Formats: sequence, C-alpha cells, structure tokens
Amino acid sequence: MRQDNHKIEQKAPEIRQLDETAQNRIAAGEVVERPASALKELVENALDAGATRIEIAVADGGKTLIRVEDDGYGIAETQLPLAMSRHATSKIDGSDLVNILTFGFRGEALPSMGAVGRLTISSRQRGAASGASLSVSGGAVGSVEPKAMNEGTIVELRDLFHATPARLKFLRTDRAEMQAIVDAVKRLAMAEPAVGFVLRDVSGGGSKEVLRYSADQGALFDALATRLKSVLGADFMDNALKVEAHRDGIQLAGFASLPTYSRGNAQQQFLFVNGRPVKDKVLIGALRASYMDVLHSGRFPVVALFLDAPVQIVDVNVHPAKSEVRFKDPGVVRGLIISAIKHALAEGGHRSSSTISDATLGAFTPEQPSARIYQMEDRIQLMRPTHQRGFAETQDVFSGRVESHDEIAPTDAPLGAARAQLHENYIIAQTDEGMVIIDQHAAHERLVYEKLKTQMAENGVVRQALLIPEIVELSEQDCATLLDAADTFAQFGLIVESFGKNAIAVQEVPAVLGEVNATEMLKDILDELSEHNTSTEIQTRIEVILSRVACHGSIRSGRRMRAEEMNALLREMEATPNSGQCNHGRPTYVKLALKDIEKLFGRR
Ligand code: ADP
Ligand code: MG
Repeated sequence: MRQDNHKIEQKAPEIRQLDETAQNRIAAGEVVERPASALKELVENALDAGATRIEIAVADGGKTLIRVEDDGYGIAETQLPLAMSRHATSKIDGSDLVNILTFGFRGEALPSMGAVGRLTISSRQRGAASGASLSVSGGAVGSVEPKAMNEGTIVELRDLFHATPARLKFLRTDRAEMQAIVDAVKRLAMAEPAVGFVLRDVSGGGSKEVLRYSADQGALFDALATRLKSVLGADFMDNALKVEAHRDGIQLAGFASLPTYSRGNAQQQFLFVNGRPVKDKVLIGALRASYMDVLHSGRFPVVALFLDAPVQIVDVNVHPAKSEVRFKDPGVVRGLIISAIKHALAEGGHRSSSTISDATLGAFTPEQPSARIYQMEDRIQLMRPTHQRGFAETQDVFSGRVESHDEIAPTDAPLGAARAQLHENYIIAQTDEGMVIIDQHAAHERLVYEKLKTQMAENGVVRQALLIPEIVELSEQDCATLLDAADTFAQFGLIVESFGKNAIAVQEVPAVLGEVNATEMLKDILDELSEHNTSTEIQTRIEVILSRVACHGSIRSGRRMRAEEMNALLREMEATPNSGQCNHGRPTYVKLALKDIEKLFGRR
C-alpha cells in the first residue's frame, strides 16, 4: 500500500475517461515496444495493401527515423484522418474475428505510433490523380495536405518515443536495435517471397544498403527456396532437408537443417503460422523434441517452417503484436511437426550415407577419449626417443620449415607433430601410425573450459582486471538477471557490477580467456540463463555456463598459428582430460591411420 496517496478523508477518486492520446500511448506500450516492432507494423500494412515492392530506410537503429515506402493500393485522401484514429481499420468489419487473412486488423498501429513519435503518412491511391499527406506528432493530428508522389504509400516515423522519455531509455544501442530490425525484415521477407524488399541504413545522412531481396516469382516452393537462400544463405539450403506434411487439414512445409548444421541459440528458427511470423512455445517445443535424439541439448537446428491451418483452429488475436498464436489442439500440431521432421531426418541420413565422401570420411574415425589415454600411458612407459617411422622417405618434403621443431614435436606423441595448418583452422599433424586433423577452435575451447573447471575446484579462478571496465547496455530485466547471478559468476572469475538501470559494467574476467568480447559473452550467458528452465538453480548449471564462457576465450577459427603454437596446443591437449571432444560434444580431432590412407588409395 502506498501511504502518500492516501488523504485522511479516504474519498473515492473520481473516474474519468482518458483522452485519446493517453489511450493511444497505453496501446503503444503493447504494439510498439521498440523500433523493430514499429517497423514490423508498417511493413505489414504495406503487405496488406498488396505491395510488390517495399523500400525501408532507417536511421540510428530506427530511433530517429523509420521510413517505409510501398507500391500498394494506397489510401484515399478523405480516409487519411480515419487511418490515424484508434480502432479504425479497413481490414475487418468487426463481425468476424476468426476469419482474418490480413496481417493487421486491430486498427491500433498508426495511432499508437502517432502518439509516441512524429508520424507522417503520405499516400496516393491507385488510379487517383494526386496524393496527400497527414502528420501526427505526440498525438496532435495536423491537417491533410496535398503531396506529389507516385501511387502507393510512404510512412515516415521520426523520433520514436520522444513523447514518452521513459520508453526511450529502455531502448538498446543503435546496433542492437538495428539487429532487431534486420531480423524483423528477414522474417517478413521469408513470409512473402513474391515481394521485393530493400533495407537501407541512412544514419548520419548516408545511405548504406543492408538487405536487398528481389521479388521471387515462380512456383511456391521454388520461390520460397530462392528467398530462403538469399535470407539464410546458400549454406543453409545445402544443409537443409525439405519438410512437407499434412494432417487434419493442417499443412506443414519448409526446410530444416541437418543436425550437423546447428547453432548455439534459437535465433535462427523462423516459424510462420498462416503466413505470419510467430514465436510460439508449442512450435519451438515440438522442434526441440524432433531433434532430441540427434542434437546435443545446447544446440539448435536452423529452420524455416510454415504451418497453415484453417482459421477455425488457430487464434491469432492473442497478443497486440500478433506474434503469439493459440492452437485449438496443440497436440495435433506438435505431433505433425515431430513426425514430419523425424521423417525428413531419417531420409536425410540415408541419403548422405550413400555418397562417396561418406566412405572417405568413414576412414577418419573420431578418436575415443579412452583409447587416447591408453596411448598416453603407453608413451610414458616406453619413453621412446624421437624417431620417424612410416613416412620416413617423404618426411623431409612434408615437414619443411617445421622440421627444426621435431625435438619439441615428436611424431610418437599421441597427437604427433604439427606439419601444417589448413583453412586457418585445421592443424595437420603427423604421427607414427598416420595423421591427425585437429579442429583448433574446438580444441582450444575445450582446454579453456577444463582449465576453468580445474581452477574453480582448486584455488579459485585467476582473474584479470580490465583496464577500462566494459559497459554492456542491456534491458533492465537482463541486467537484473545477470546481477542476481553475480555471486555465481564471481566463482569463475567474472566480476560484473550494476552500471545504472540499463547497463552492466564488466570489471574482471577469467585470465585464461585472454582478450574477450564482454558484450558477446554476457549475451551468451543470458541466452543460457533464459533458454533453460529458470527453476533450475544457476549453481547446478554452472558447467553449462562455463562452457559458454569458454567459447569466448577460444582461438576462433581463422587465426593463423605458428608451428610452436600448434605443437604447444597439441601437447596441452594430450595433458588435458576429455580433450577429445569440444564442449558441444563434437570431436576436437580425428585420426587417420596409415593403413586407412593406403586403403583410400587402393593400396590394400
Ligand atoms: P490495421 O493494420 O490493424 O488495420 P493500422 O493502424 O496499422 O491498423 O492501419 C490503419 C489503416 O490504415 C489500415 O486498416 C489501412 O486501411 C490503412 N493503411 C495503413 N498503412 C497502409 C498502407 N501502407 N497502404 C494502404 N493502407 C494503409
Ligand atoms: Mg497495421
């Protein structure tokens, strides 16, 4: 109970009708959370108007400008004021809230934006002789003015939240807001392959093209495939399985990645229901279940899946931002997704096992940790002097400049002597029995992780203070989540402190990480904290969090290493438990025995 509001006489406060601006600002709280959500509403309006080409320009992460131009059917001059008023829409007549085929229908977006920013809408209806425009700023509606323009609509939203400074403070950095905008455009572009999209960053008066997707005509699946290729990359399509299934009037179509093409978070899971991008728990849960047998729990498949269901069994009017849906029978949807993906995965597995490359790869068997330890013991017992076997005749040719390091890099060590680095990530080492290919990034990640664990168990993690604390801007909630766990982080050498309401100062990091991108690391930790059941104590998840942290100190692929560095890494791996696997369960190295190499060449 707040005391200060209570007068002695306890008189009931008067009830009054809020004016329209106040109503709109309250609505804006739900519809327009950040620049990306404003942009989403504007692009959806353009799509609803039948646009075939949408040009978007934003400045300063959308905070100072979002401009969406379309070639849709436009708005009649006389209707402009209505478009700006609350609960006014051309998309439904209110008699049927079930059969909704457009993105919008609530009639809230434009008035909400006009109440919290400066909005100008200019439009020339198809077939009209001229255009007109109307501005609203902080809820104050101007008058309709003539405007020379092409057919279509241009909506310009400037200084979002200038009228509500409290909101403005919640926004993340320009970069983070821009990222959210890019993500929103990608989702809508995937939903509408037949529409062309351009996104430009016009910050500081410049004009940088960020995205360009040309309209993809053609058969539905082909157009979708082309669009997905440009949005998610050819890489994704090369590693994706086609998913197609239907049950009880529900259709599922799209692409899902092979288990080997996975990510560390669920960001790259694009889900659509009746053409609308959604983030739905039922669908995400079904995805997780589909990959349970084939993917480590911390990894996420990349998918673009489109579910189409009769409007009677899916309700889209659950949330003002319309990103959540409600299924009448979630079980049917879940079952359909799981069986469709499992089926695709099973077929995909069959397909790849029949290729030639598979036979070659079959010879490169991942080393089992137990076998490696056995070899190490073997080596310690025998303590053989350095000598060459097997590759003796060609050794000079292969070793080249690395030769002089043979004393520190014996080929009879379990992981052998580093001979070369390929693609700036793979170390090729020669052993007495054959060769080893080491994934330097995965290996280093594992070493850092094991070091962190050992130090934690022994004298505590060695910390390193940052010269200048790194300030990471986050939402208030994210800050609170991290600060709640600050004591746990301190146990592994990560010292974070509150820095105002919307930022965290990273003071110290575990020394083994070396140079580290604190922002990326905190975001990864947040991902970890939010992805798992929050009821699980952070303390019990500390190993998982540690393994995330370890990734950040790792030698990323793409760094060239000197011979001594490579050999030092190999020796360290030999001395570290579990170093045969990275933190994600993948092997850190594979061995190829000389007899298998000979087999490959038909010598045996
Ligand atoms: P909703 O989309 O839910 O109907 P909005 O507030 O987003 O509500 O838009 C109000 C109305 O303005 C729409 O119903 C539509 O008639 C009109 N409108 C908005 N943007 C456009 C556009 N880009 N092209 C044509 N008409 C538009
Ligand atoms: Mg709308």
